[in-house]
Amino acid sequence: MRNQLNKVLEGIPASPGIAIGPAYPYGKERFVLYRKKISEEDVPKEIAKFEEALIKTRQEILELQRNLSQKGAASDKIFEVHLLLLEDRMLIEDVIKELKERKFCVEYIFSQVLKKYINAFSQMGDSYIRERTADISDVGRRILKHLLGQDEGQPLRLEEPSIIVAHDLSPSDTATMSKENLLAFVTDIGGKTSHTAIIAKSLEIPAVVGLQIATRVIKSGDLLIIDGNEGKVIINPDTKTLRKYQKEKDRTIVEIQQLESLVGDLPAETKDGKKVIVASNIEFPSEVDSVISHNSEGIGLFRTEFLYMGRDDLPSEEEQFEVYRQVAERVKPYDVIIRTLDIGGDKFLSQIEMPKDMHSFLGWRAIRFCLARPDIFKVQLRAILRASAFGNVKIMFPMISCVEELKQAKSVLTEVKRELSRQKIKFNKNIEIGVMIEVPSAAVISDLLAKEVDFFSIGTNDLVQYTLAVDRANEKVAYLYRATHLAILRLIKTTIENAHNNGIWVGMCGEMAGELPLIVLLLGLGLDEFSVPPISVPKIKYVIRNVSFEEAKKIAEQALLLNSADEIEEFLSKRMKNILDRCISDNVCDVCDLTGLMPKKKRSKKRG
Ligand code: PEP
Ligand code: MG
Repeated sequence: MRNQLNKVLEGIPASPGIAIGPAYPYGKERFVLYRKKISEEDVPKEIAKFEEALIKTRQEILELQRNLSQKGAASDKIFEVHLLLLEDRMLIEDVIKELKERKFCVEYIFSQVLKKYINAFSQMGDSYIRERTADISDVGRRILKHLLGQDEGQPLRLEEPSIIVAHDLSPSDTATMSKENLLAFVTDIGGKTSHTAIIAKSLEIPAVVGLQIATRVIKSGDLLIIDGNEGKVIINPDTKTLRKYQKEKDRTIVEIQQLESLVGDLPAETKDGKKVIVASNIEFPSEVDSVISHNSEGIGLFRTEFLYMGRDDLPSEEEQFEVYRQVAERVKPYDVIIRTLDIGGDKFLSQIEMPKDMHSFLGWRAIRFCLARPDIFKVQLRAILRASAFGNVKIMFPMISCVEELKQAKSVLTEVKRELSRQKIKFNKNIEIGVMIEVPSAAVISDLLAKEVDFFSIGTNDLVQYTLAVDRANEKVAYLYRATHLAILRLIKTTIENAHNNGIWVGMCGEMAGELPLIVLLLGLGLDEFSVPPISVPKIKYVIRNVSFEEAKKIAEQALLLNSADEIEEFLSKRMKNILDRCISDNVCDVCDLTGLMPKKKRSKKRG
């Protein structure tokens, strides 16, 4: 049954823009099943296909069990249950019987029988039997995969322009899926700065996350409007609504074009002559096209972990070197800041067995992992250093929390430099080193860290989550995730002051740097570089070019005297609106109404 017209779901705006298209539910199973009719003669062929799928599934489970028992894991016992289920005569006979009677393709029949079993098991009184539902579903998925001849690890490829509707998308799902025909994402869970949201922004596709019930409510083929500016999803819109959003979509495209033509490759210089850098964040080397086309002044953050994700092996030194070299050469004369591997939290590598302690944002993540695995770390450092001979490469360490950790990372770098020198391999001996300021302790001791490095880049995505104790990927606590919390603003101010007092520059590569109402505040606090998704570059330059540094400093001073995030946001929004109105009257012939990009929705105070 199709959904009613104009049903609206509200979530968290994760990536701006409007998309209109059919829903493509993307579940854990990732199977597209067609209800194909078969003839009487096809029945034996379909039965043989089913038997073959059962054999393959059995082999696969035995293999998994062998691997796990070699590693001494107790979990190999689960597979005993799976093997028993695979031999369940009742299920097998049920499938064959239905196949003969109903004459649909075996994958469809099997999925129907499987559903029946799952329903029956999930309603059993006995809790042990009830808990076997997950096992049946797991084995069933494996059988279906073999029936469809699909490799479950195979990345998703959409055959027609569609909007993905998922409970969750891991960064590695997002990184590996084909971007062709991908119009937008919506997910049940996640926050504004979860890595999936960040990737959507890089890909320049709208996304709404934290919808909680999207996968329950949206059906395959429902027509959706995704409003990534306001965090809304409209299911099966009526003609009037469709027309309204189509217009809005066209307006956004025109606005971006107007902005591009207004700022072009002009520098980000205030009316009174203060220059800052507006650079880009990238996850994939292919984004360099966008970096160049949006006139970005370099790359302020290259999240290299995506090179490691969605594959079975680790990228070799040679492979990484080629990627870094090409990026550096293309972006020259601008800088490329390559951040060393930042995995853990919500980003995982398939080729390394991920212990439970990596799944926590507070656990074995980023530099902590790299220092413990010098074999992996050194390969990357060699590749980055080698690329530094071909462009303006800088190196940046993530998640530094104390001076000792930074010193350790630097000493591994020195070791690698020595090795390269011994081998007479070229690299920039004076390569600049920076740290991310994304752990509150790092911000507090930024005076000490500043003496050790050439630059800072403030990672507000993590700084906010760690300072306010709010998981950045959890939609239930998203209302508490505020970059404008005074604690954050004070940490930013301290970091910038400590950096400048020690003669180094400070950038910001967290999502906060791209938030329209906050640009003037950050400028006024003395930020030297904004690093944002490439598409946001013209917007930032436009604002900076239309304000004076003196005015920005006053606005920042006043904002910091206020008492709450609400007051600060209201104050900054008003000031930004004045600036934008002024821009419109100043640029009489090129009317560029950025006010459409201002947040419209009041922040929900609702819990849960
Ligand atoms: C940050 O934490 O702000 C940041 C830029 O790093 P990431 O989002 O990759 O954790
Ligand atoms: Mg971070």
